[in-house]
Amino acid sequence: MREIGIGLIGTGFMGKTHAIGYSAAAAIFPGCPRAVLRVVSDINQPAAQAMARQFGFQSWNTDWRSLLADPSIEVVSITTPNVMHHEMALAAIAAGKHVHCEKPLAPNAAQAREMMEAAERAGCVTQVGFNYIKNPLLKLAREMIAAGELGEITNFRGIHAEDYMADPQTPYSWRLDPAGGGGAVADLGSHIIGMARFLLGPLSAVNAELETVIKTRPEAPGANARRDVLVDDIARLGLRFAAGFGGSIEANWMASGRKMQLGFEVSGSKGSLVFTQERLNELLHYRAGAAGFVRIESGPAHPPYGLFCVAPGHQLGFNDLKTIEMAEFLMAIDGGPRQGPDFREAWEIQKIIDTAIASSREKRWMEID
Ligand code: NAD
Repeated sequence: MREIGIGLIGTGFMGKTHAIGYSAAAAIFPGCPRAVLRVVSDINQPAAQAMARQFGFQSWNTDWRSLLADPSIEVVSITTPNVMHHEMALAAIAAGKHVHCEKPLAPNAAQAREMMEAAERAGCVTQVGFNYIKNPLLKLAREMIAAGELGEITNFRGIHAEDYMADPQTPYSWRLDPAGGGGAVADLGSHIIGMARFLLGPLSAVNAELETVIKTRPEAPGANARRDVLVDDIARLGLRFAAGFGGSIEANWMASGRKMQLGFEVSGSKGSLVFTQERLNELLHYRAGAAGFVRIESGPAHPPYGLFCVAPGHQLGFNDLKTIEMAEFLMAIDGGPRQGPDFREAWEIQKIIDTAIASSREKRWMEID
């Protein structure tokens, strides 16, 4: 079986999710190369050491650059704060590695473009962590829309709302660093913008209002001193799609009570589809004239669900979506189809985020370049 050496940078929320996905991919997907967990790197030494022990990485270190010179590493996985993605990805590409980078790809479209161009010049396989669209039911939704089951599309209503920044006492962190790009519009908005594009194709224009609701936060955990917040807490976007219809998106990281409200409603002349990640194993379908929505439950009829479990209704989870993403990435490196989202798609998403920020500043509709 083909083996692919992995170098992982970062051991936080996403670092762990990547390690789980790589570890499970070949066991779930027949024909998928085996990911060999070679080296994990984190500036936090105990965290790097603990992750190496827990997942069986062959070694750990605190200097991510040392991964680049290691010929046993074919893939570099970047799970650090956004502001670091550009430097790390460019260095990994220059060292001849394939690169998985978490979303948003970069703080702005200019950096994302540089990363995309470097990757395409080098011919390396890239993947960006838009894991939620790996849900088999999202693939089904896209197929239903493409097959005309909703008729002519009239509207897209999307949301990604969580509440991890709702408390004004939640301290300043890398997510609030303007050098890393937008606030909620980038952190959460990137997922729902990517999902809108996945389902319905390119957007042509945006009119956004970005709002910073909590103007200052403790500068560190437990600190009395407060620091100004310069990024948005809530972003409200009006959208025009290239296909001619309109829509809207809310990205909100202070929606009290919401832990993972990533979802959409797509309406058309013959029906509509409703999805929320809060109930990721179901898709609601309304056919015009019917009494109400029909619930489609995830099962082996929706590949690759059946590779995880032979029984319908037993449900996939968050880490399963990451496993699908990692398996597709590893298989693409092995010559399989490149299913993305790759750096080019992440650049397209970043352009929309940049345009939303500019539109909010200028208080007008703006075309997406
Ligand atoms: P986190 O704060 O939990 O983890 C970041 C890790 O990077 C920490 O372990 C930190 O010590 C490490 N780090 C910082 N600087 C480093 C350096 N110079 N070298 C090596 N390691 C360094 O953050 P997170 O929530 O895992 O987010 C990381 C990235 O993943 C962000 O880009 C974020 O937007 C993205 N993310 C994606 C999803 C998703 O669903 N795909 C979910 C959450 C976060």
